[in-house]
Amino acid sequence: MSRLIFILAIVAVIYVLLRRYRKNSLDQANTPPVEPQTMLRCKQCGVHVPSSEAVLANGENFCCAAHRDAYRA
Ligand SMILES: [Zn+2]
Repeated sequence: MSRLIFILAIVAVIYVLLRRYRKNSLDQANTPPVEPQTMLRCKQCGVHVPSSEAVLANGENFCCAAHRDAYRA
């Protein structure tokens, strides 16, 4: 009897793993391709930086916090 429960447990684990695997592959298929990042120009030094790394202050873009502070000063 315990042997049957053991087999059922293994089947249940495989079932859960398969469902998870399918969900993951579906999620990957539905994920849109990564869009190219917008490049923003540093107001202080003119270097272009990706929008995710740019420092925004008062509607102006900067490459780093130091240049933001330098522009303010
Ligand atoms: Zn800069």
